[in-house]
Amino acid sequence: MGEAQVSLKHLFRVFTKPEHKDSKLAQIEEHLSDNILDFLSQHVVTKKTSLEEVEQDFADAVVPESPEFVSTHAENLLEKLVAHSVNTYSPTFIGHMTSALPYFHLSLAKLLVGLNQNLVKIETSKAFTPLERQVLGMMHNLVYEQDEPFYTQYLHSARHALGAFCSGGTVANITALWVARNKCLGPDGQFAGVARAGLASAYRHYGINNLGVLCSKRGHYSLSKAVDVLGIGRDNLVTLPCPEQVLDPELALKKGREYQEQGNRLLSIIGIGGTTETGHVDPLDELADVAKELGCWFHVDAAWGGATLFSKSYRGILKGIERADSVTIDAHKQMYVPMGAGMALFKNPEDANAVRHHAQYILREGSKDLGATTLEGSRNGMAMMVYSSLHIIGRRGYELLINQSIEKAKKYAAMIDALPDFELVTAPTLSILTYRVCPAKIQQCLSALPQKDAKKLNSQVDRLVVNVQKLQREAGKSFVSRTRLESPEYGAYPITVFRVVLANPLTNTRDLKAILEEQHAIAARNLVWQQLMANSQCEALHQA
Ligand SMILES: *Cc1c(COP(=O)(O)O)cnc(C)c1O
Repeated sequence: MGEAQVSLKHLFRVFTKPEHKDSKLAQIEEHLSDNILDFLSQHVVTKKTSLEEVEQDFADAVVPESPEFVSTHAENLLEKLVAHSVNTYSPTFIGHMTSALPYFHLSLAKLLVGLNQNLVKIETSKAFTPLERQVLGMMHNLVYEQDEPFYTQYLHSARHALGAFCSGGTVANITALWVARNKCLGPDGQFAGVARAGLASAYRHYGINNLGVLCSKRGHYSLSKAVDVLGIGRDNLVTLPCPEQVLDPELALKKGREYQEQGNRLLSIIGIGGTTETGHVDPLDELADVAKELGCWFHVDAAWGGATLFSKSYRGILKGIERADSVTIDAHKQMYVPMGAGMALFKNPEDANAVRHHAQYILREGSKDLGATTLEGSRNGMAMMVYSSLHIIGRRGYELLINQSIEKAKKYAAMIDALPDFELVTAPTLSILTYRVCPAKIQQCLSALPQKDAKKLNSQVDRLVVNVQKLQREAGKSFVSRTRLESPEYGAYPITVFRVVLANPLTNTRDLKAILEEQHAIAARNLVWQQLMANSQCEALHQA
């Protein structure tokens, strides 16, 4: 069934002929273009299907022998893949950093794939390379605000790079630390530099035991991947506790000094411009001072929060970011670009030369090929999506989007505060907040109980939160994520919380109200709620 002929004639047809208007794939395309919300609501089923059941559809590890007709294949995709996808456009799915996209991206995606340019070298991306350089320049300007002559000099200079465009925040963080590492352990007299001689020789030459990176406990796990691939080692990612939710500059200075005094070299301090879990922003300006004091690189991971710079009202929260040697920003988060768009920006346009590679057949010296300073090789023209968004939405459009997300988060926090059976755990700095469900009676009880008993009770509340989050997700109408974190009001142990990212511009107050109502209804029906209410210690306190 659905098997096509094995012939070059058939394959040439597949390469050259568009799908017939009535074919399944053409219908999918039309439906998507017409009304993606309707397409998703029709084809993404919310019906409970276990992961194991879905795996059954992808169980065969043999390459299909014969070609399949495109239409037959499209049917299969709808049934097996689309049906069990997640409806990221739904305004009641407020648990992730990637959500609904502006419509024009669907058509742009087609143009992007149609052109299939390769940004690794200019021969296959004559216009895309200058475009990508311009995008990096615009984002550099957003962060560093240099004057016009600066950008005239460096934007298209073959010997400089204002940043590296890459697939996302992870690769951007790796790239930034790669540059920092190669500069920190660079060529020196007879020593060829770490890039050529390797880490062991570099440590010997510079007389150090280890190279280290310092950040708060809330650092994204991509940082731990970065120190791993760069050979620095995960044990040398020094993560500091942040009871006040952000990295304490004094503690950073103290720990940095201690690390250096042990015969190590501190590679970089990392400030987070909006943590993934709570959206808090480290005191970047003060951390820049600390980095200066310690004589190390200063990197800011603003993968998620960087877009706040578009907002005149809120960009002050990131004050000090302009002092960072490198900054990570993801366009596929708060810039509403499809996934695959990250950037590492460099304050000093010379810095990227620390990782420059040349090859004879490609990336010749003096060429403007971006591939010479990017970690990735073949790369598509995702920069076009950022370019178009920057034009179609504009600085002021992004400002509105950022402002409304932050204001919505504040409103949601106020709604939570007003409900007796909910507790706001971390208030929003930007548009992320965390909270939990906890019966009012138990909240009172918790504040009166001694530490040890409170801890036990809190772990029971944790179970309630986990149950509610799971049951809500399984019901399929709405989605919030969850995490575990420490917060000063709850003692020195982590508690489980709901985590909300107000990313989707289409989410409104009614959606938020519905999500809270659903959570309350699920919680009140849950066995753990009954167990909490029957807690004898709380009963006794209640009677007294
Ligand atoms: C999302 C995120 C990353 C990782 O970015 P990817 O695009 O998922 O690779 C890194 N740091 C922070 C703070 C993030 O929020």
